[in-house]
Amino acid sequence: MKLSPSCQNHPTPFYYYDLGLLKETLRTLLRESGKYGYQVHYAIKANANPRLLKLISHEGLGADCVSGNEISRALECGFPANRIVYAGVGKSDEEIELALREDIFCFNCESLPEILIIQELAQRLGKKARIALRINPNVDAHTHHYITTGIEENKFGIYLYDLEHVLSEIKNLSQIELIGLHFHIGSQITDMTVFRGLCLRANEILQKLKEQGIVLPHINFGGGLGIDYQQPEQNPIADFKSYFATFSQFFEPAPHQQVHFELGRSVIAQCGHLVAKVLYVKEGKKRKFAILDAGMNDLLRPALYQAFHKIENISSDKPQEKYDVVGPICESADCFGKDVHLNQTQRGDKVVIHSCGAYGETMASRYNLRNVPDSCYSEE
Ligand SMILES: *Cc1c(COP(=O)(O)O)cnc(C)c1O
Repeated sequence: MKLSPSCQNHPTPFYYYDLGLLKETLRTLLRESGKYGYQVHYAIKANANPRLLKLISHEGLGADCVSGNEISRALECGFPANRIVYAGVGKSDEEIELALREDIFCFNCESLPEILIIQELAQRLGKKARIALRINPNVDAHTHHYITTGIEENKFGIYLYDLEHVLSEIKNLSQIELIGLHFHIGSQITDMTVFRGLCLRANEILQKLKEQGIVLPHINFGGGLGIDYQQPEQNPIADFKSYFATFSQFFEPAPHQQVHFELGRSVIAQCGHLVAKVLYVKEGKKRKFAILDAGMNDLLRPALYQAFHKIENISSDKPQEKYDVVGPICESADCFGKDVHLNQTQRGDKVVIHSCGAYGETMASRYNLRNVPDSCYSEE
């Protein structure tokens, strides 16, 4: 990989964003979702960098937010309020009030106690709240257990056995307008049979509701489409075609039912890279360490999820050797990869960690009082 000239001398560590690839990804996404009339909201938590958000809102996507600050950021970056959806198991009163004042499109609600508070706050503000029920469909995403969100043991969504009770309670709430159902079963899912399972479960649930005379205008399938972390350069764009085709084939919407998605990782992951410099090469008896000036505070995914990222030395063309690529932070988890094949590496070489656009910069912290990483952009 090559950095664009504008970023070649940028001080490390920094996130490098390929805006051309982001645009191409968005075009592919819109082409494939457009075939079926689906609406796509970008999940802001994957990357909330304003420059990227402006580009994404400009292409016409909606926004999926999980905090009040994300709603404010989405509005600042050009997402219209009527294209904003808001999820989260623990929405605070202040966050709910902000969303009500801004008249966002829809609250994705995760429990009856939350809905009762929205009712109360909406009444006080003289507002109506459109809501969708986030259903925990009990579909296993077969992904890392930290990013599986749709099985019964975890905190997300309304459990299927509770649905009837919640529906009957909502009927009496004057400020609540139930407009849809919402699902989000996990992340980094590349097996389309998982999404087929979600479609079939959704069909069953909608059929049951229909028997009770309930037909809702909106169905939101959340996000979760995975990307190729192993071969990012061969597969820079996620398989949007198979993803949307799966829903088109297996989900049976009612007439005029609008289908929505909330994609994060698949939109933004491949266009971001973390660029770092090698500070030291340290040789042990059995291992060689390449010690970078970037650490787990800059990119948490390997430490948090044992995530794999492709790593490349872009300064050297010498034969490859094996290194453990680590950061400077006082934690053993501060390791980006073990037994990584890198071109023979020396102090000062630049190393690129691929596929970092999603859940990279947004998770950065100031641990060890380090600076949060800067960013640099390819020319568009
Ligand atoms: C995180 C999240 C998403 C986005 O998930 P990706 O795997 O990044 O596509 C969508 N919806 C909700 C409710 C989320 O929490």
